[in-house]
Amino acid sequence: PVNAADLAGWIRHAATLVSADAERLTRLDAAIGDGDHGLNLDRGFTAAVEAVDALPGDAPPSKVLIAAGRAIVSKTGGASGPLYGTALRRAGKAVADLPDVDAAALGAALTAALEGVQELGQAAEGDKTMVDALIPAVAAYEAALAGGADLTSCARAAADGAAQGAEATVPLQARKGRASYLGARSTGHMDPGASSTALILRALADVTV
Ligand code: ADP
Ligand code: MG
Ligand code: MG
Repeated sequence: PVNAADLAGWIRHAATLVSADAERLTRLDAAIGDGDHGLNLDRGFTAAVEAVDALPGDAPPSKVLIAAGRAIVSKTGGASGPLYGTALRRAGKAVADLPDVDAAALGAALTAALEGVQELGQAAEGDKTMVDALIPAVAAYEAALAGGADLTSCARAAADGAAQGAEATVPLQARKGRASYLGARSTGHMDPGASSTALILRALADVTV
């Protein structure tokens, strides 16, 4: 299982990866959006780290996720802020009161995050958004869990699923978000939000080892 300190470590590690990759994410967004995705997420995760670091030492896992989500909503501009913030807050609610998050609970949290993103953003699979990374991530996680895999292997499966899902957005035409304004010209580029989802889930897999 993972505890509150592990999840706080995830937010910190995700912030580090986002910061290191901010330029690449911004370049992806410059191709089919407005070129601010890396900057938006860097700002959001910096705020999330501050929020998580300010929590009392005995805060449960749910509080870590909810505090990070709130900070991201309030500090991240663009469409991705409310979406990632909702994802984290829903994940937090899904593990409410648990002192430790086992593999099944983490799967439920990931599923809740996906549901929150889809409720808020109304994107379906294939619309070329972060949903195209989240759906295969959840599916791969649940398949690994059903096969008896431990939490680390489930988290790795989710990260791999998200990375493949992000790659698969390249030929798609965007039907949601700013990229949809480009119509057919949105094809041939990876969706920035799908790419950042893969990065954030890679960070999760990294910290569960
Ligand atoms: P903005 O487009 O407002 O500048 P960002 O650049 O930070 O915001 O984020 C863009 C990303 O947000 C897209 O690449 C896409 O993955 C995601 N996104 C945009 N709209 C939606 C939506 N309705 N549902 C899911 N994800 C979305
Ligand atoms: Mg943008
Ligand atoms: Mg923007």
